Amino acid sequence: LMRLYGPINLLASMQATALTALVSFDRVLEVLDLEPHITESPGARPLDGPEESGPVAPDILFDRVGFRYPGADEVSLASLEAAAARVPDRASEAWTLREVSFRAPAGKLTALVGPSGAGKTTITQLVPRLYDATEGSVRIGGQDVRDLALQSLRDAVGVVTQDAHLFHDTLRANLEHARRGASERELIEACEAALIWDTIRALPDGLDTVVGERGHRLSGGEKQRVALARLLLKAPPIVVLDEATAHLDSESEAAIQRALETALAGRTSLVIAHRLSTIRGADHILVVDAGRVRERGTHEELLLNGGLYADLYRTQFAQQAAGSR
Ligand code: ADP
Ligand code: MG
Repeated sequence: LMRLYGPINLLASMQATALTALVSFDRVLEVLDLEPHITESPGARPLDGPEESGPVAPDILFDRVGFRYPGADEVSLASLEAAAARVPDRASEAWTLREVSFRAPAGKLTALVGPSGAGKTTITQLVPRLYDATEGSVRIGGQDVRDLALQSLRDAVGVVTQDAHLFHDTLRANLEHARRGASERELIEACEAALIWDTIRALPDGLDTVVGERGHRLSGGEKQRVALARLLLKAPPIVVLDEATAHLDSESEAAIQRALETALAGRTSLVIAHRLSTIRGADHILVVDAGRVRERGTHEELLLNGGLYADLYRTQFAQQAAGSR
């Protein structure tokens, strides 16, 4: 395994070219296993299923979570990106999250807002255990994520991020990954709902088109739509959306929003939101700044507060509000 780190480091230092190559790294990174620090505990249990008459989705609890990124000797996608963009990786001693406590209620939408670098993405990564909390705990339906069988945890959490990555394989295989044994009809319906079906249908090989570095290249927006189709197929009880519609123009975003509403209905979701409409519709907003939750409440409550959220609203969202009138 260690012998493979050399080439990776070399590639990471190739600056801008490394960014375009990142997609092709995916498979290598998968083989390397990016999460050597994440291990399944002995006696790990599957996530409890929904009770007969109980809630469909479990709640998520962050209990005084502190977090520091592991040492620089460990390869991570973010550090590869930082190297590629010549951004110095932040000192690994620094606390990225401090005393983060909140409950994302079962079946509700919790929005995370805050300035860039505040720690929003990091918070969401602790849910499917891409990393473990350094202090405190993350609980799903009362169970500490570290006590859960990894497969069960990852099955329960659907994630769509800004840079959705697809396997170098056919679109069909990429989609079936989300739901084994899905019928052709189900695949097509998910693609239709995610507004990617017309694009796929127009390809000579349709769903059997190979995507990825030596295959058909999809645009950022197209990849995100495939990722959304995967989310619709997977229909997990917990959904994490991280800037999930960043690549979409506002027209298709409105249409995808409707598909997302279906995908999110009754699920426990953590949404890193950039759209005023999402934030307004959230059941609960957490304002994250410098690794801490500074404010919490509904859109109206937070505006009345006149604090950080009100500032963010003025600088980030007021324009959107004006534009949507
Ligand atoms: P946000 O999503 O709110 O923009 P992030 O959670 O991505 O913020 O980042 C929070 C902080 O953690 C930033 O200072 C960022 O530079 C740092 N960071 C993010 N990923 C890594 C990583 N893999 N290794 C070290 N530091 C990281
Ligand atoms: Mg982020």
